[in-house]
Amino acid sequence: MPATVVVGTQWGDEGKGKLTDLIAKEMQVVVRYQGGHNAGHTLVVDGTSFALQLVPSGVLYDHITPVIGNGVVVDPFVLLDEVATLEAKGVDCSRLRVSGNAHLILPYHQELDRLTERYLGKNKLGTTKRGIGPAYADKAMRVGIRVQDLLDPAIFRQKLTAVLGDKNKVFTRVYNRLPEDPDALADRVLTEVAPRVEPYIADTVSLVHDALESGAHVLFEGAQATFLDLDQGTYPYVTSSNPVAGGACTGAGVGPRAIERVVGIAKAYVTRVGAGPFPTELFDDVGDHLVTVGREFGTNTGRRRRPGWFDAVMLRHAVRVNSLSELAITKLDILDGLDTLRVCVAYEVDGVRHEHLPYHQSDLHAAVPVYEDLPGWGVDLSSVTERHQLPDEAVAYLEFLEEQVGVPVTFVGTGPGRDQYVHFSDAGS
Ligand code: GDP
Repeated sequence: MPATVVVGTQWGDEGKGKLTDLIAKEMQVVVRYQGGHNAGHTLVVDGTSFALQLVPSGVLYDHITPVIGNGVVVDPFVLLDEVATLEAKGVDCSRLRVSGNAHLILPYHQELDRLTERYLGKNKLGTTKRGIGPAYADKAMRVGIRVQDLLDPAIFRQKLTAVLGDKNKVFTRVYNRLPEDPDALADRVLTEVAPRVEPYIADTVSLVHDALESGAHVLFEGAQATFLDLDQGTYPYVTSSNPVAGGACTGAGVGPRAIERVVGIAKAYVTRVGAGPFPTELFDDVGDHLVTVGREFGTNTGRRRRPGWFDAVMLRHAVRVNSLSELAITKLDILDGLDTLRVCVAYEVDGVRHEHLPYHQSDLHAAVPVYEDLPGWGVDLSSVTERHQLPDEAVAYLEFLEEQVGVPVTFVGTGPGRDQYVHFSDAGS
């Protein structure tokens, strides 16, 4: 059975949690393929709120095997805490599987993240300081320590001693800090963590292929989003992994032909956290409306997100780099009550019109959006669950997005609740 990928198509915070949960229901295996404990989905099930950072959303269904793929970086302390919190709320985590090839985030990665951000001062990247970037850097430098190393204490100790030899020079000589003691850290990880993580460690590549061969539905769940992708995003204001759909291939160990359906999640407008180019950014009352009504504040930091109109140029690019087969539009209800809705259909750079994303980032900084205006709707969409209940203006807005972006809109979010969505059209129709 071919697999499905769910991917964010803007700068994150698209509301992937709810849509992923909706799609996950029909799956037997749900695999996270990149990122770390910065995913931050919040799901509300039967009145109980579940905050998932690392564990795939499928954990909430008894019929799903949740898998943390080899492309993820795993903080084992956070993993165990998250599992304990879920189990305290009655969620059975015994089906969870973690790839032995996934890399570990250890305390020195977090310390490095904090120190480098602090020393970058006003040029900081705005990372979540959870050690994710430094862990991926170690992976690329071939000095990372993998989940499977927890199973071999001698190897774990040897690798940790070697890597801390280098890191400690940086801590003491560059940052004037105390060194980290490799023996103390090895003792702590090998006694507190390794025995508790061991039951979850697996050959997840074989697990995924066995599932696909047996006809099971497999969902690959991307964290962050297309324009935060290390390669395809607005570098350097990006994450340190590959959220794009192709990341599922490397991060879970499948070839591109295993993937049939790629669902892109986009908000009905755009937000962005922190610095970086943003052509459709709004600094007016409409921007304030989107932030206030859409509650566009960082989950952990409380930081106000930058708001803007829907950008079809970005979305066309997301369609290309992910091979999107369909689009799910979230938070349409946040546009309720706005008189006029603007959609960016092209950019103008130095008087030249661009239908597709200009490759040079200086052009993106200089891009002036070309808008088409559509009428808004004066009604509240929060109780709309069927396409025929949508006001004509909302249907026209969604059909305009479909036409501009070139893929069908299949689902539309009309509120935060699990049941507040509309099935708008079928993929491929
Ligand atoms: P992620 O960062 O993309 O995973 O975003 P989340 O899944 O954490 O969603 C962000 C917030 O948007 C959550 O509080 C959701 O409840 C909320 N949300 C998701 N879809 C909708 C929607 O269609 N309408 C409204 N009003 N809120 C939504």
